[in-house]
Amino acid sequence: MHELSLLAGVVGAVEEVAGDKPVSSVGLRVGARSGVMVDALEAAWPVAIVGTRCHAASLEIEAIPATVWCPTCQNEQVIDEFFALVCPVCETPTADLRQGREFTISWVDVGTND
Ligand SMILES: [Zn+2]
Repeated sequence: MHELSLLAGVVGAVEEVAGDKPVSSVGLRVGARSGVMVDALEAAWPVAIVGTRCHAASLEIEAIPATVWCPTCQNEQVIDEFFALVCPVCETPTADLRQGREFTISWVDVGTND
């Protein structure tokens, strides 16, 4: 499971943003085709934050569905994460993935030091 090492990177980046302030929550955008399991992220978070300025932070995950551009439908279609790259409506093969590979920090909430 590589989620823990991914989260170590997230925590490091968040700490840079937060400076010396305690972090209260962190938002992540996770695409269906990012190769990252949301359940595994949530399970690894309490481990990843031990001894960091994120130690009291909650993790909020926004799951991004995978979509492809279908040249036949002339439309963006949501594909199931386990399906091959074909349009779910007309079954035209398409590798034009428009979203779903995201693994990014969307926001960081910091508290005060008082
Ligand atoms: Zn189509």
